[in-house]
Amino acid sequence: MKLERVELFLVRLPLKRPYETSMAVETHESHVLVRVESEGAVGWGESVANETPWYSGETPATVWLILEEVLVPQLLGTDIAHPRDVSAHVGWVRDDPMAKAAIEMAVWDLAAKRAGVALARFLGGTRDRIPCGVAIGIHPTVDALIARIEEELAGGYQRVKLKIKPGKDVAVAEAVRARFPDLPFMLDANSAYALSDAPVFERIDATRPTMIEQPLAHDDMIDHAELAKRIRTPICLDESIRHAEDARKAIGIGATRIVNIKAGRVGGIAEAVRVHDTCRERGVPVWCGGMLEMGIGRAHNVHLASLPGFTLPGDVAASSRYFATEIIGEPFAIEKDGTMRVPAGAGIGVTVLEGTIRKIALRHAELR
Ligand code: MG
Repeated sequence: MKLERVELFLVRLPLKRPYETSMAVETHESHVLVRVESEGAVGWGESVANETPWYSGETPATVWLILEEVLVPQLLGTDIAHPRDVSAHVGWVRDDPMAKAAIEMAVWDLAAKRAGVALARFLGGTRDRIPCGVAIGIHPTVDALIARIEEELAGGYQRVKLKIKPGKDVAVAEAVRARFPDLPFMLDANSAYALSDAPVFERIDATRPTMIEQPLAHDDMIDHAELAKRIRTPICLDESIRHAEDARKAIGIGATRIVNIKAGRVGGIAEAVRVHDTCRERGVPVWCGGMLEMGIGRAHNVHLASLPGFTLPGDVAASSRYFATEIIGEPFAIEKDGTMRVPAGAGIGVTVLEGTIRKIALRHAELR
């Protein structure tokens, strides 16, 4: 197939509640939406870069620049035999995985629609429902956090993930375990600690979290492997895993026992599937991370999480938790049993509200 027309939209939505991590407080999400067209079929993708470069070096502005000046001009008119070839065409671009993923995802949606099958089926997914967890930002007080956890559990989520930062870590884990003796909860530090902080994690061990996500530097594996020897709680890497080779190495040296997969972080769905396969071959469970996606990115996550290695509940929660405005016609909701249905329609299987997107977009570009 050949892409004949690509459109970019910058959409900015306020979050219902500010989302605090160890590195930043987010109040809005600005995502670049990508619409690709070929022979009358249309596909959609969404970039997941945050408004400020705290998680990675990318922002909506860098994503826009790389798409408009580099990736789209290269892919327009290129014969793309299969969506997994997109990453090979743009592989010479050193960084910018979220920009690459945004257009690659759109090509996957387009190709699955042309094939007349759900993206999940197209990718080899095996489940029609996925288990869901919820990620909860840092709260001002432990009482406020506990109240929030109670609210989320009432909503049916199967596990909660709590963001931590130095000074809001051990006491949080202890209070949550005391209040919820059997709750599967995990902690995410977003790289806020160093190996010298190992005693913090030794104390957290006693509270039996299901895992600790990315405690140490975003570009580290060696110290994570050291920390792993000192604690019982499994370490799950997020930021450190940029592609399948990272996953192979991190598992090989004992730096991670679980992997968080985000298509945006690894440069697209094809690489996300390779990370999944690498982990599965080694018996390492994976789960689908979240980046406060709007409806299109969320839909891609749900289809990806239908692959067989995604055995743990991911951060794929109902979109109404985050946004008052929807950009798809069938917002994702959680069932009473804590699962979410994988759409059965072709491609991402949701109706993209193109009129809304065109109306609210802060920026638009059309490339042919
Ligand atoms: Mg994380």
